[in-house]
Amino acid sequence: MIDLRSDTVTKPSEAMRRAMAQAEVGDDVFGDDPTVNRLQERACEVFEKEAALWVPTGCMGNEIAVKVHTKPGHEIVTEDRGHILNYELGAAAVISGVTIRAVKSSNGSGHLTWDEIEPALKIDPPYFQAATGLICLENTHNFAGGSVMTAAACADVCERSHAVGLPVHMDGARIFNASVALNESVADLTRGCDSVMFTLSKGLGVPAGSILLGTKEFIQEARIWRKRLGGGMRQIGILAAAGLIALDEGPQRLAQDHANARALAEGLAEIKGISINVETVVTNIVIFDISGTGRTSAEIVSMLKDNGILAIGFGNLIRMVTHLDVSADQISETVNALKAAC
Ligand SMILES: *Cc1c(COP(=O)(O)O)cnc(C)c1O
Repeated sequence: MIDLRSDTVTKPSEAMRRAMAQAEVGDDVFGDDPTVNRLQERACEVFEKEAALWVPTGCMGNEIAVKVHTKPGHEIVTEDRGHILNYELGAAAVISGVTIRAVKSSNGSGHLTWDEIEPALKIDPPYFQAATGLICLENTHNFAGGSVMTAAACADVCERSHAVGLPVHMDGARIFNASVALNESVADLTRGCDSVMFTLSKGLGVPAGSILLGTKEFIQEARIWRKRLGGGMRQIGILAAAGLIALDEGPQRLAQDHANARALAEGLAEIKGISINVETVVTNIVIFDISGTGRTSAEIVSMLKDNGILAIGFGNLIRMVTHLDVSADQISETVNALKAAC
């Protein structure tokens, strides 16, 4: 199978499995797991933040951040296609009691500028409006096709948000992909953000786990919410051991995933009926429009599946994600299968 549904399907390497088998462990709810503690410290160094907390999933990391930064009745701002708004099952409403103000990015990149955010804000609003409590950014932007936000663009939003008293959370599930594509450090890409979540379980190849970062105070509060949500786990040094390898060795191979995605996009652009802007494919996500083929995305996805290729279709779009378990040869195979299917 060539599984292009997501980079979450990646399997741990031999080195990771060995490290997991040998991991020193303890009860992390008591703060006693030495491997988890080492991973959290390493994440703080890499991101240049005060404190870090291992969380079971990226969704939990995002939702804890929303909870700690806001009060019930607040409104939070996300981009129109953002993960927190669209793919977390209304958790911000359920857990934090907040509503979400969706803002469209005018250039389609998925990354909001201050000029786009500011009109949506309600600072000291009249008593019939909900006050804004948080700005959420996403880098790379998943459903805008893995697009990247530069350090300068992020710093600008953070600076102006802070000037009006608003915190900024970065959904950095794939922040290392952005870092590799832009050649800017993850520390620079998240410098002004009050909290950052990144996943270990996507392109970095760990079976499970994400990290939430922020100030000591923020993480103290986050730890309480992690327990409340059922995310206080015990001997998770077994997972953190893979995380340590991922943090140090994972990012350097993401460039290969990006090259594969670009090659895939170039191949797709040649197929009649498929529409894709190759220039926008800068990381590992390829989203293309199939309306010109006269077939539905469900039909094409099903034909691909018959050829051992998995992808996700929604509406007129199909999404393919490259990762460490997909080779350059498999990309050519995929392009050929699509040509036949279309
Ligand atoms: C995958 C993803 C998440 C959630 O991570 P899970 O570990 O699957 O819960 C959050 N934000 C973005 C942008 C993602 O792509």
